[in-house]
Amino acid sequence: MGFKCQRGRGFSERKAFGVYGGSAEMGRKKKFSEDIKTKCLLLSDRHCCVCDISCGLDIEIAHIDPKGSSDFDNAIPVCYRHHAEIGRYNREHPRGNKYRIKELKIRREQIYEKYTRHLVPPLLFYLTPRMGDARRVQIQLPRVGFTIENHGSFLPARFKVNVRAFLRAQEIGLSVNPEKPYYTGGIIWNLNPGHTFYGNFSLDEKSVDDTKHLRIEVNVTVIDEYDRNHPLLPTCYSYDKNSDSWFTEPTSFNQLKAFMNKPQLRER
Ligand SMILES: [Zn+2]
Repeated sequence: MGFKCQRGRGFSERKAFGVYGGSAEMGRKKKFSEDIKTKCLLLSDRHCCVCDISCGLDIEIAHIDPKGSSDFDNAIPVCYRHHAEIGRYNREHPRGNKYRIKELKIRREQIYEKYTRHLVPPLLFYLTPRMGDARRVQIQLPRVGFTIENHGSFLPARFKVNVRAFLRAQEIGLSVNPEKPYYTGGIIWNLNPGHTFYGNFSLDEKSVDDTKHLRIEVNVTVIDEYDRNHPLLPTCYSYDKNSDSWFTEPTSFNQLKAFMNKPQLRER
């Protein structure tokens, strides 16, 4: 009963604000499912994804592409004013700038990020030639130690880890156990607050041939309690044979690759 009333109200509001420009168009448009609407409202914390105003009850879920489907990617929570503006642009008498589909999607992601980033626990991770509690166990290439800590005190962490290895510019594989794809993004990790995980993975045997040019990129994507993905920035590591340790390169592999094979700069 309550649900039907809401549907009715949605229709009259859209009509009042002239969003779809007529009842024939309204009849064709498919509604968003309750699950999609709920997810949009949670991710935006009921803020308009154009003006970022807290709307409370006065929020609607609009179609970004009016001719598009009614899936999650085409949904955007907006205030009455911006719901009307998204659909109001008149091609016959163009004034101002219409809202672009790409623009609305980027803006929506900014708002979703703003109201969910507090759900991302602080994670610290690094590569190491040792593993285990107190890093007591020494391991050797092609095995690489991976330690990750949840530094938060109350948020459990759910995340995916994706490791890629490179010799010079060429990507080499990981030796993956298909039953436990922990390091190829195939499985969700759980790490409770204050916990540390001491793990390891194995590279392709080729990795020991040319350790001077061995690099590993680690990508961690946190999944918040609403199932939204928060990719952390990529981090690269270079192996140093002399000290048998991994140096952190605070950048992505693609950035490093752009400078490979460039003539060495003369110092001073
Ligand atoms: Zn608005």
